[in-house]
Amino acid sequence: MQYYSLRHQAPSVDFRAATIAGQAPDGGLYFPESIPRFSAELLASLKTLPQAELALRVMQPYVGDTIPQAELARICAETVDFPFPVVPVTDQIAALELFHGPTLAFKDVGARFMSRCLGYFSRQQTRKVTVLVATSGDTGGAVANGFLGVEGVDVVILYPSGKVSPVQERQLTALGQNITALEVQGDFDDCQQLVKQAFTDAAVTSHLTLTSANSINVARWLPQQLYYLYAWQQWPHPEPPVVAVPSGNFGNLCAGLLAHASGLPVRHFIAACNANDAVASYLRSGSFAARPAVATLSNAMDVGNPSNFTRMLELFAHDHATISGLISGATVSDETTRATIQRVYQRHGYLLDPHGAVALHALEEYLQQQPQQHGLFLETAHPVKFPEVVEPLVGRTIELPEAVHALMRQPKRSTPLAPRYEELREHLLSR
Ligand SMILES: *Cc1c(COP(=O)(O)O)cnc(C)c1O
Repeated sequence: MQYYSLRHQAPSVDFRAATIAGQAPDGGLYFPESIPRFSAELLASLKTLPQAELALRVMQPYVGDTIPQAELARICAETVDFPFPVVPVTDQIAALELFHGPTLAFKDVGARFMSRCLGYFSRQQTRKVTVLVATSGDTGGAVANGFLGVEGVDVVILYPSGKVSPVQERQLTALGQNITALEVQGDFDDCQQLVKQAFTDAAVTSHLTLTSANSINVARWLPQQLYYLYAWQQWPHPEPPVVAVPSGNFGNLCAGLLAHASGLPVRHFIAACNANDAVASYLRSGSFAARPAVATLSNAMDVGNPSNFTRMLELFAHDHATISGLISGATVSDETTRATIQRVYQRHGYLLDPHGAVALHALEEYLQQQPQQHGLFLETAHPVKFPEVVEPLVGRTIELPEAVHALMRQPKRSTPLAPRYEELREHLLSR
């Protein structure tokens, strides 16, 4: 498989080069030259395939011959060694729980897959690889956890000061070793902008072999399509589901669209957004305008200019009519998010996190018009990551899993950074 740049000003490369580079040298995102079709045999045997084997069969065409089969099988097995349960919430709606990995959010799968691929590739490199990543909350922890102690790889994480939850902050600042956390006095878009600028700075890219671990990186983005296959494995209804995806940078939704393009049955997608709804507005109106991010309760979705939007357009050849036929956009306020967490706990005993609540509400609204259909929403984080929001609404404390307890006792280690590129540049050039 070759990957081309969506800006078309850089040569196509294989999976290895795309993973190491993160972003194409012209600043574009890499995109696969063809979309593999799931074979009829794969789709027929889907319900009985073990998770790891399904992961291998789906990822193989994207990886090509850049990783030997046995090595890729090991990487896949390590990546998906925890469950992805579909849990009924109402008669019509189920949660696909993606928070059973080590950092309690869905980004573990992409981060684990990417770290292991990069670990394999860096064994053939003489120079260290530096992963430079901006996080709105959960990416940082997943990337730090996935890369901790990986030989030949250093990780530099930029996160917006005061805009991530205490558990999230600890997950990316407490590990140490090859992980450095830069605490930016700004918002996520500032962090993302700084990272993008570093990738186009020749002085930096000749000093360090830089790569990104945001869903910009194909090795982070592509394995996320597995969630939708695991959901289908457990889906109890004959009709395919309506799937609501709580979205920020749109990597997760875009991976679902890719699985659908490969042949996975999905009835309809819902792009569930908080107040940062540039893509939802595009779906409604046909015109797109990036805007500055605003802070909300679902902080991992506070993205004003989502990177993967260009991939979404590419998948549909930029045709708004086709895109909006398959995907609806929804905007959910903080007030509705709170009310949804409270109501769903009281009526159904299900504990939502703010991101899942946005998706569940968007799905409920859609299904009101489609009472015969059934839906899934992606519950992307464990509610314990957002206790200050969830606990007062449900009137109880949420137990911290033991692994998180231990982490919370570790000291926070971060370096403050003004949201100016010169500061980041200086930091990187001195490494
Ligand atoms: C990152 C994140 C999202 C948004 O996912 P994208 O792929 O960026 O759209 C949603 N929920 C949680 C909990 C996240 O960490």
